[in-house]
Amino acid sequence: MNIPTSSSSNSSSVPGASSLPRIAVLATGGTIAGAAPDAANTSGYQAGVVGVDQLLAAVPALSTVARIAPEQIASVDSKDMTMSLWTTLAQRINTLLASDDVDGVVVTHGTDTLEETAYLLHLSVKSDKPVVLTAAMRPASALSADGPLNLLNAVTVAAYVATHAAARGQGVLVAFNNRIHSARDVVKTSTYAVDAFQSPEIGALGWVQDGRVEFQRGVVRAHTLTSEFTLASLDSPDAARPQVEIVASYAGVSRLAVDALVAAGVRGIVVAGTGNGSIHQTLQQALAEAVSRGVAVVRSSRVGSGHVMRNGAAADDALGFVSAGSLNPYKARVLLMLALAAGQTAPAALQKLFDTY
Ligand code: ASP
Repeated sequence: MNIPTSSSSNSSSVPGASSLPRIAVLATGGTIAGAAPDAANTSGYQAGVVGVDQLLAAVPALSTVARIAPEQIASVDSKDMTMSLWTTLAQRINTLLASDDVDGVVVTHGTDTLEETAYLLHLSVKSDKPVVLTAAMRPASALSADGPLNLLNAVTVAAYVATHAAARGQGVLVAFNNRIHSARDVVKTSTYAVDAFQSPEIGALGWVQDGRVEFQRGVVRAHTLTSEFTLASLDSPDAARPQVEIVASYAGVSRLAVDALVAAGVRGIVVAGTGNGSIHQTLQQALAEAVSRGVAVVRSSRVGSGHVMRNGAAADDALGFVSAGSLNPYKARVLLMLALAAGQTAPAALQKLFDTY
């Protein structure tokens, strides 16, 4: 794979301002835009109250990296992310990237559902221009707030990818705490630490520091321009979107949740299984019945790293289940929603998609 390797020629340089890449910064809220009553408070704050202009004003160095076009898309705590905000955001990104006047997009987001939004965009953005998400663990008002440097680094990565052809084609990226992650693999792994994001098993794609960007590996699976998914089918009233929910397997679990979901007419259920996606026999029986009623069932794992082997901990062929591979339950839900919206329902076809994306 032809991606840049470490050398001084890879460092982002600062050309004249008029030739700097044009990066749209789309703000959606989150802790990066959060404010607390005092600077020592890093947990009792309100997310999404600081506007994009204020976020940018806190980072004067941005003007040496890119020409910034700010937009306030939303001001939400990302725990409250909605399908309609997802489609608004994705459509706005696609519109911006289709323009010759935009070289890349940075999205500021809350950390709580960043991994889901990033993966949704990874599968639905139709451009090889950079899209980089960033966030913060500490509110903008905090001592040692991490948002300003994360924002500068995200814009630096977007500007770098925009101006280095060899760095293109890796899909949506997440720049956080100096590391660059693929949207497919990144997950939040800490409730409080500023090093809150990891790509378990596989590691970060690269790093960014002091204006220098380096990629150390490439992205193998399909995404963006090679993804078959669009958001068109999700851009409909909530009732018309394929409803996909997540249930967990655990000691003593009942079948209540699965039976209620099936009765409510869900189209898909992702199971956060134990270990290698194993499922308590009580839950497994309920899920097998769900399949027979036309519900797509995907087995993932609640463990947090590794992958789920098809026909490993459950007889997927016999039961009509699909293995999520290395996608966690939340990312598996994103892919299953897109797949169902695209009209794919057969377990074999769904398995192929989970093996591809
Ligand atoms: N609750 C916040 C959010 O996701 C947390 C954060 O951004 O760190 O919006």
